[in-house]
Amino acid sequence: MKFENFRFETDAEGIAVATWDMPGRSMNVITPQVMEELAAIVETVANDTAIKGCIITSGKETFSGGADLTMLQGLGAEYARLARTEGEEKAVAHFFAQSRKLSQLYRRLETCGKPFAAAIHGVCLGGAFELALACHFRVVSDADVTRVGLPEIKVGLFPGAGGTQRVARLMQTADALQMLFKGEQIRPLMARNMGLVHAVAPRDKIVETAKEWLRAGGSAVAPWDEKGFKNPSGRVYSPAGMQVWPAANAIYRRETHDNYPAAKAILQAVYEGLQLPMDLALEVESRYFAKILRSKEAAAMIRTLFVSMQELNKGARRPADVPPAKLRRVGVLGAGFMGAGIAYVTALAGMEVVLIDQSVEAAEKGKAHSHKLMSDQIMKGRARTADRDALLARITATDDYALLKDCDLVIEAVFEDPKVKAEVIARAEAAMRPRAIFASNTSTLPITGLAGHSQRPKQFIGIHFFSPVEKMMLVEVILGRKTGSRALAVALDYVRAIRKTPIVVNDARGFYANRCVMAYVREGHRMLLEGVPPAMIENVARMAGMPVGPLSLNDEVALDLALKILKATKAQVGPEAIDPEQEELLVELVEKRGRLGRKNGKGFYDYPEGGKKRLWPGLAELQKTKLDPDTIDIAELKQRFLVVQALEAARAVEEKVITDPREADVGSILGFGFAPFTGGTLSYIDGMGVAAFVDLAKALAKKHGERFKPCRLLMRMAREHTSFYASSADKPARRKAA
Ligand code: NAD
Repeated sequence: MKFENFRFETDAEGIAVATWDMPGRSMNVITPQVMEELAAIVETVANDTAIKGCIITSGKETFSGGADLTMLQGLGAEYARLARTEGEEKAVAHFFAQSRKLSQLYRRLETCGKPFAAAIHGVCLGGAFELALACHFRVVSDADVTRVGLPEIKVGLFPGAGGTQRVARLMQTADALQMLFKGEQIRPLMARNMGLVHAVAPRDKIVETAKEWLRAGGSAVAPWDEKGFKNPSGRVYSPAGMQVWPAANAIYRRETHDNYPAAKAILQAVYEGLQLPMDLALEVESRYFAKILRSKEAAAMIRTLFVSMQELNKGARRPADVPPAKLRRVGVLGAGFMGAGIAYVTALAGMEVVLIDQSVEAAEKGKAHSHKLMSDQIMKGRARTADRDALLARITATDDYALLKDCDLVIEAVFEDPKVKAEVIARAEAAMRPRAIFASNTSTLPITGLAGHSQRPKQFIGIHFFSPVEKMMLVEVILGRKTGSRALAVALDYVRAIRKTPIVVNDARGFYANRCVMAYVREGHRMLLEGVPPAMIENVARMAGMPVGPLSLNDEVALDLALKILKATKAQVGPEAIDPEQEELLVELVEKRGRLGRKNGKGFYDYPEGGKKRLWPGLAELQKTKLDPDTIDIAELKQRFLVVQALEAARAVEEKVITDPREADVGSILGFGFAPFTGGTLSYIDGMGVAAFVDLAKALAKKHGERFKPCRLLMRMAREHTSFYASSADKPARRKAA
């Protein structure tokens, strides 16, 4: 067989090296053709008596990101077609046979009688790491970029080509489950400590290390196929097993609230698989995999968290006619909470930063934030002292606006006060090059209004970060009425350079993410006023899939800020734009009781020094009525949390604040953690069906008020039986990896 995706060579010693190097791609990916060629390699090695064993390595800068998810999505489409034409039973049988082909190929490699080794440099994830796990020996390079792992859970899937079974036979069950649940990318030394790989070597020695293993008589039998193999944690039905499984079940419930079928399938596949010999165990895993692959959650998560996110990262919204900008130097105005974070992520991406505050001391204080963050990285072994020194050398802390003269982009993060903003815009523009772009990080002031203070409104744009800047992966890029396409292109190039995900939104109060967040927090306030016990509010929000309860979230954002925004909205839009009872609640907390949130140690929670936060007992006093918890409909509370946010997202689409459903969905998960298993705010509506969503919203409106009233856009979509993705170009993705 002639190989297109591999180079296959056997040396004088009889050691074959299969170098995976797909033409025309920057990264190797598992496709049907790769599987075919790999199968041929396995048979050649197995049957050619001159070949002693085989090493699989990559000819690229990195190993492989895994399987082509479009291949898996294609299987789903094929299943639907067969179900229609040949019936459900035939469709399922076909789907099962197809979806386990990779697993069978790896098992054949593992049991073909000849030893296989994987020599890995760069990332080796998902299906590619499952290939390595099926090899009898694994060596990884010690390079900074090398990572192994099984991240499938992050897109609603799980490792279905033997990953769950091999990992669970390599390490203690509890550790294996944790690895499979978290889906983290693991560094070389950690991988060796965990028993995932056998050796770590310099990059140019990995193939040689694998050869040495082969020369020394590397075994062609996997540990679990040896006679007398024992699972590292012993048998499932044993006193040790009983230490693990009840706890694993409880942890699964606590972490997922049963919202993630893939996580449950991991538990089931490992629990059942560990009681069976390998071949049967792999069949069990395959059955769960086929089921999960057809789940609504996997489809939604793959679309949003893989396909759409990748498209946005690659510049789906970038004006194509503007040449890419290579940003060298960026100015940051205001070295406070946000400015310090923006300076750090910018310098981390290799750009020079001019960090300006009112005094050199204030600017230095902002720069010290970078010192702290880098020191934390050094402590964790993720950076070297030299990296910290180099990063700090890129940041100039100053009070001198003249230093902005060489900046390609200037981002302001000064006080949220229109007067202060107007002043810094004027001072910065006086120093900046005429073609440089000015961006504001404001969270509440309209970009169009701020651009009014600019001499060049075409070059004025919003770049809205979320806090903490170094952790939050979303950035909203906001277009003012006069913002030009070059400003948009530069802003997107900048966001790409700092490796965050951009969504482009039009200028409107709260932009996109914050208006949904405010609706969520307000729902929590409403429940409190209705008499729902505060602990129940917080727990039910997490059961609905939100990462933090609305009261905790409000404490983090600060209660006085929430009240300030409410008052500003009332003054600017009118009293009907706000909820008077919510205002009363916040006035009581902030103005009468001095409870500002986490920042002063008291908000909805108390934050005792050195102790764990707990709900403030005084909340009971603020509740005029108290509901009997046993009479509360939990399912309805959960729905209220998600529906109220999804409605806000739909309104943002109706008002053309958001123009692309991919951005609404990606933005909702990355920006405020909207229940990821739904695929995001609009996927939640689409997944339920717009008509069913409208009925639900109407029922909630009848019971709980106007805020649940579906907007006109939704009513029309329900009548026309359409959906957000059907009405947008829901193009299939080009390439996807798991
Ligand atoms: P902050 O008060 O922590 O920092 C503001 C900084 O600006 C201070 O260090 C102050 O000394 C400096 N400053 C004021 N006037 C200045 C001037 N004339 N020249 C230079 N520096 C000046 O505030 P923050 O929380 O960092 O917020 C900054 C901006 O970011 C605001 O527009 C805010 O709306 C926005 N924002 C905040 C958050 C958040 O979570 N805090 C999130 C997104 C956006």
